[in-house]
Amino acid sequence: MGEIKRIFIVGAGTMGHGIAQTAAAAGFETTMMDVDEDALSRGMAAIEKSVRKLHQKEKLTQEEMEAALQIRTVTSLDAAEDSQFVIEAAPERLKLKLDIFENLDEKTPPKAILASNTSSISLTRLAAVTERPHQVIGMHFMNPVPLMRLVEVIRGLDTSDETAETVFNVAERMGKEPVEVVDSPGFIANRVLCPMINEAIFALQEGVGSREAIDTVMKLGMNHPMGPLALADLIGLDVVLSIMNVLQEDLGEDKYRPAYLLQKMVAAGHLGRKTGRGFYKYS
Ligand code: NAD
Repeated sequence: MGEIKRIFIVGAGTMGHGIAQTAAAAGFETTMMDVDEDALSRGMAAIEKSVRKLHQKEKLTQEEMEAALQIRTVTSLDAAEDSQFVIEAAPERLKLKLDIFENLDEKTPPKAILASNTSSISLTRLAAVTERPHQVIGMHFMNPVPLMRLVEVIRGLDTSDETAETVFNVAERMGKEPVEVVDSPGFIANRVLCPMINEAIFALQEGVGSREAIDTVMKLGMNHPMGPLALADLIGLDVVLSIMNVLQEDLGEDKYRPAYLLQKMVAAGHLGRKTGRGFYKYS
């Protein structure tokens, strides 16, 4: 595998456009693909706003800002025919991701690396629908991508050392700090974070303290920049619930059972910031 110069991103949503921005600003020739034209326009508008702000704050040079505005946008995976390195950031649905990986395997050159930004789906499972399981890997960025330094690099059962090394190198060139993780439910970030949030919800449900009390204890006492309930609202309560369900089902332990209050809030459609109401109200 020669030096990676081009990156192809699947999905222009919250994560996809953040990854595209970071890759392009770092000097990779970047293509962003989405099935939805409007998502591509929204993604490019968000990138433009973000890079202008970062440039004003002197966190991006003029050249880096201009490079990020040069991202090519496409609506079909056919455009991936000359890819070297793909990062998939489509919605977290198993069937959809399996279809995309099967398609990418057909459409990209045999040497291309296929990475996924999945938060909870097994990389080994995605790799198994391709003819190149040794070149399939997880690249789990954090939200908002341009600002967060961590990338969990998740090795599936058959991921090769060469693929992992290339991904480490690409992540570092993007200005990130890669950490190697074994393919296991929730990886490290969500395995540790989501049970903590879930426990905060149990504490609220049981009346151990008010939402403000719980968040204040974790902010002032543990130096967390945000309390767990406010963080749950930011992540999305549906996302937290689905990760807890994955942990409980795949690890088979009762300690991962989602709090009943979390289940009720999701059922009611109170998903956090994105719906204007979660543990707090947003206008
Ligand atoms: P999102 O819903 O904001 O964006 C997904 C995009 O994918 C949408 O624009 C949608 O139009 C597009 N899409 C749908 N079907 C497609 C297809 N077949 N081909 C190409 N594009 C398609 O989702 P998101 O929050 O950006 O999450 C994307 C992935 O990143 C998920 O796997 C999620 O688990 C993971 N992730 C999310 C976060 C987060 O905080 N949002 C953090 C880390 C990882």
